[in-house]
Amino acid sequence: MNLTKILFTIGPQTAKDEVAEALIKEGARGVRFNFSHGDHDTHLKNYRMIREISRKLKIPIATVMDLQGPKIRVGSLTQPVELKPGDIIEVGLKHTDESLKFIPFNNKRIISSIKKEERILIDDGKIILRSISSKKDSFLARVIIGGVVRSGKGLNLPDTDLKIPALTKKDRMDLLFGVKVGFDYVALSFVRSPRDIIMLKNIIKRHGASMKVIAKIERPEALRVIDEIYEVADMVMIARGDLGIEMPVYQVPVIQKRLIAKANQIKKPVIVATQMLESMMSALTPSRAEVTDISNAVYDGADVVMLSGETATGSYPVECVRMMKRIIIEAETHIGLDTSIGEDLNCIRRPSSKVHSIAAAIKQITREQKIRCIITFTQSGKTAEIISKYHLPLPIYAFTPDENVMNKISLLRGVFPIYIRYEKNTDHLIDKALEILLNIKKISRGDECIITGGMPIPKRGETNFLKIQTV
Ligand code: PGA
Ligand code: MN
Repeated sequence: MNLTKILFTIGPQTAKDEVAEALIKEGARGVRFNFSHGDHDTHLKNYRMIREISRKLKIPIATVMDLQGPKIRVGSLTQPVELKPGDIIEVGLKHTDESLKFIPFNNKRIISSIKKEERILIDDGKIILRSISSKKDSFLARVIIGGVVRSGKGLNLPDTDLKIPALTKKDRMDLLFGVKVGFDYVALSFVRSPRDIIMLKNIIKRHGASMKVIAKIERPEALRVIDEIYEVADMVMIARGDLGIEMPVYQVPVIQKRLIAKANQIKKPVIVATQMLESMMSALTPSRAEVTDISNAVYDGADVVMLSGETATGSYPVECVRMMKRIIIEAETHIGLDTSIGEDLNCIRRPSSKVHSIAAAIKQITREQKIRCIITFTQSGKTAEIISKYHLPLPIYAFTPDENVMNKISLLRGVFPIYIRYEKNTDHLIDKALEILLNIKKISRGDECIITGGMPIPKRGETNFLKIQTV
């Protein structure tokens, strides 16, 4: 089985029972709902379908709502506008100079934030403009790289200090919807500062929800305060699509490695996203570069790898998940017990608490003893989350009496949640867990397992014991 988890984006191609079920059977453990597309009715319908499949297959599934964030787009054009290098054009709310070509976009705050010499990138950075001077409701720009601009195309402003809120009106409405529906995670696009995450967390708390927050790293400002963002986020996503527009694309691999290493030092789960199997949108086999990319992400210590268009609108969603799983398993087989680059740093920089010490001790034991699996009892999911971050080469069977927790932690690397009703006697509980694992053939008599949790287990206590148990 794959320890590194697969998160897929649901879309027209996968919003069908049989297809979604096939993806989960193939090994996907998380579903991303992309709120840049689709209406609430569609998301609700898809959410219910996923929960239904999860119940039917008895496989817990994590659901992630992905907020669009302050994504900027070209306004509506009656017809496409062709831009040639060297053209001077007008961009903004109003077309004031009829002698110039005009690109509309309708956020006044943004127009006033753009300064001289800053770049304006359109359509995934294919078209590049540079601002020359600003007027009241528009500015002039020179075309550096031309192309055809169409309505609604994405617009990136990597140089601009954007004075716009981290959560748009749409995001707030989507979030309220998401809280009601009960998504496990919420991802925020274009995070610029730790304050963005704190604000989102406060809203979630105010609504009495327990969604975990994923910071999508795709803006240059975020990289400048990355330590502070890591501190407050529950999880991070390396959103390589926009990151590769906002930053020089050749810097993306190094940024990715740095962000993964940092996540592994401070023990925050990290998702690598975008274009992982892009060529499989329309082909049955991936490019060699894509296979190598996924494998490298696993080697470097990603917790989750994500599929976007590949499963939302691509022709071969099931094949993508199958391929991804094979690549992961192959990589994990060869990482074995080897330590990764971030490892030495783990010892120095890792957070200090009893559960972290126990997790580090478990890692040490798995290096010296032949251990079959880790068994943990976790009510809030916290123990499973922390042990997961020590990237053991073994499955972690996380026993919990809470179905919501099961769904949530199924996205975590190496964690396989199993339902158990807690009972007063800790010894009985451990026996019951071993029996379940024997029944589903995850362990055999004579195996050595590590058991950990907070004693007495039924009390929501701190993780405080570690036991090497011969089955
Ligand atoms: P998006 O985020 O697909 O929501 O833009 C991912 C990315 O930018 O890579
Ligand atoms: Mn993005």
